[in-house]
Amino acid sequence: MTLLEKDQKYIWHPYTQHKTAALPVVIKSGNGALLYDIDGKEYIDAIASWWVNPFGHSNKFIADAIYKQLTTLEHVLFGGFTHEPAIQVSEQLLAMMPSNQQKVFFSDNGSTAVEVAIKVAFQYFFNQNQKKTTLIAFEDAFHGDTFAAMAASGISFYTQAFAEMFLDVIRIPVPVKGKEQESYDSLQKVIDTYEVSAFIFEPLVLGAAGMVMYEPEALDKLMEICKKNNVLTIADEVMTGFGKTGKTFACDYLQNQPDMMCVSKALTGGTIPMAITTFTQEVFYAFYSDDINKALFHGHTFTANPTGCAAALASFELLQTDEIQNNIQHINQRHLQFQEKIKGHSKVLTTRVLGVIFALEIQSAEDEQYYGNMRNKLYNFFIDNGVVLRPVGNTVYILPPYIMTDSQLDKIYKTIEDAIEHVSS
Ligand SMILES: *Cc1c(COP(=O)(O)O)cnc(C)c1O
Repeated sequence: MTLLEKDQKYIWHPYTQHKTAALPVVIKSGNGALLYDIDGKEYIDAIASWWVNPFGHSNKFIADAIYKQLTTLEHVLFGGFTHEPAIQVSEQLLAMMPSNQQKVFFSDNGSTAVEVAIKVAFQYFFNQNQKKTTLIAFEDAFHGDTFAAMAASGISFYTQAFAEMFLDVIRIPVPVKGKEQESYDSLQKVIDTYEVSAFIFEPLVLGAAGMVMYEPEALDKLMEICKKNNVLTIADEVMTGFGKTGKTFACDYLQNQPDMMCVSKALTGGTIPMAITTFTQEVFYAFYSDDINKALFHGHTFTANPTGCAAALASFELLQTDEIQNNIQHINQRHLQFQEKIKGHSKVLTTRVLGVIFALEIQSAEDEQYYGNMRNKLYNFFIDNGVVLRPVGNTVYILPPYIMTDSQLDKIYKTIEDAIEHVSS
């Protein structure tokens, strides 16, 4: 049997209808922004493998840090024990974050980071004898696939089977241009009507919705409404964190600071699964008590895995180099130039750029489904041409690793231009 035949025999892939899906590409190795399949064909990873990989595949600096840690202390339980890599990650991460973030809770992935934040939001009020059990989230939000994270997510056509079992979540419109007031009014109304514990949001960019963007001023306004009404704010920076928006965190564009933040993707440079939820001291104090029942009884077996922490520390170091910071600004400039060039194209509806994120919407005859016809045609065209891009409906976005070269970017832009002609002809 070939590898692909064995794959099909044994493996159930994520987000895949196995009866109708195209066969996966068998990847053998990666180097920088490039991936190689078992036949030696090269692919440019234009979306940093689902937004996790800022410093390139098989990065030697991070690999060395991981090897060193693996051969010193690969893992130790985090209940009753601690270790220097976790302590350093906490100290350094908090130093990079908005100044009100003071406590770190480790978990395994973006969904668990969100799950922890949502549980903390509910228990924060429970511990103070207040019953606040409603959550507010954006329409079209994506916060992950575990139960609470899925309930908070607004992209719901794949979660119908569970719709009756969700937490109480009320949705408000994303304050995109022209919809700001509607969004503010809606938030105020929900807060006035329900007992709301928290508002969870993807700051400035809704990734899975197709890189939908809105302005910092609008989010500041929403956060002010929450503050005035004793509603906790949760910034889900799982996608936006670690430089994607041009600043270390999307929250760095804001006047206000959230009560909690979730990070994961890119935390370890795309190597080892790990996530962190951070909190203000005030949130932590709601759990700090002589009463054991007020503690947060949540944990995962691999909490604060030392090897993951070593990878995170190496990633922080790379992120803060002048070279990487300059690359981020350079990619942003290149995106803005490409935007100028392409935005007048008769088949292009809208374009958006923030930091290293570029998105464009292609005109389509039908109302495009998330995994619809045009999307599949585009996806296959990109793969055939050696570029990894995963369009969302009729939106094509680029989110490259920061080490991407100019010629690789040129090829991505050119392939997108060709794809627009291809799908609309
Ligand atoms: C990807 C993502 C998640 C979920 O992360 P997983 O690691 O896939 O569980 C949560 N929130 C946002 C904003 C994301 O982009």
